[in-house]
Amino acid sequence: KLYNQVQDLKGSIRVYCRVRPFLSGQSNDLSTVHNIEDGNITISTASKHGKGCKSFSFNKVFEPCATQAEVFSDMQPLIRSVLDGYNVCIFAYGQTGSGKTYTMTGPKDLSEKNKGVNYRALGDLFLLAEQRKDIFCYNVAVQMIEIYNEQVRDLLVTDGSNKRLEIRNSSQTGLNVPDANIIPVSSTHDVIDLMNLGHRNRAVGATALNDRSSRSHSCLTVHVQGRDLASGTILRGCMHLVDLAGSERVNKSEVTGDRLKEAQHINKSLSALGDVIASLAQKNQHVPYRNSKLTQLLQDSLGGQAKTLMFVHISPEPDALGETISTLKFAERVA
Ligand code: ADP
Ligand code: MG
Repeated sequence: KLYNQVQDLKGSIRVYCRVRPFLSGQSNDLSTVHNIEDGNITISTASKHGKGCKSFSFNKVFEPCATQAEVFSDMQPLIRSVLDGYNVCIFAYGQTGSGKTYTMTGPKDLSEKNKGVNYRALGDLFLLAEQRKDIFCYNVAVQMIEIYNEQVRDLLVTDGSNKRLEIRNSSQTGLNVPDANIIPVSSTHDVIDLMNLGHRNRAVGATALNDRSSRSHSCLTVHVQGRDLASGTILRGCMHLVDLAGSERVNKSEVTGDRLKEAQHINKSLSALGDVIASLAQKNQHVPYRNSKLTQLLQDSLGGQAKTLMFVHISPEPDALGETISTLKFAERVA
């Protein structure tokens, strides 16, 4: 009971955790996850130095066997509140390979069953808008951008342009990257086409560096405008769906040049995000939004009336133990 009250105080910040299943049919006996129960997860920290366990508590912990539909159904109320004029931010955090893209988008062979949050969220918005069509007239439009080395790039371009974009916080239009294409959508078909375009553009940037997607943040922003048919009042809601860069620490003695610069940018922006979330959770007066492009971009959807879901991902393998513990510690700062 007390736990719930504490959670209510935090109000608008929720933290979920998802454990990826083993990939290659290895035995679950190897998993570092010892137990999952009611929002608690216990990790066995056994090593050559001896046995040990560490427990963490979150609003929800999903087992490796959780389906995409189960995961989504827990986010549904949050997503639906966008149609009521709330701003929502959902971001996937975790080391590379822990399942962030799987949760937000899905695997490469995308079937209806394994579609991720992004598709389901938009599908839900269209469905609900249709159900409310006698009361509200809704318009839905999306932007998709990437932040790489503290530079913002539009992923919804068809001419291969690679212009650096500015972030401006314009409460008037509700667009904080006004120069990025904003594309009206009215069906899940439209959304699939756009996301494919975004993924192709992301891959283009990856020629020089292998798998850039794990070292940049990508953000699908959904803008919703609803006109009350009786009063003419306009409601505005927006939702950021963010697949963050991998949170793994790199060994400074092993990387140099571009790779080190990337790592430093990622490190800086993820700690800035952690600082913002933590200061919101502590109800601090000053929230340090200005410390990274990522937090500037998400500013209108973090704090205030906005609803935030931090979705942390962990890999079950023993060799990921160090990153697993640091991911859970990062999340615990705000949970
Ligand atoms: P990340 O985006 O964090 O780097 P991915 O989402 O690419 O990680 O996941 C790494 C691999 O694990 C991919 O092959 C993905 O399809 C698979 N995977 C991740 N999560 C799950 C899951 N819950 N169920 C089945 N396969 C998963
Ligand atoms: Mg990924």
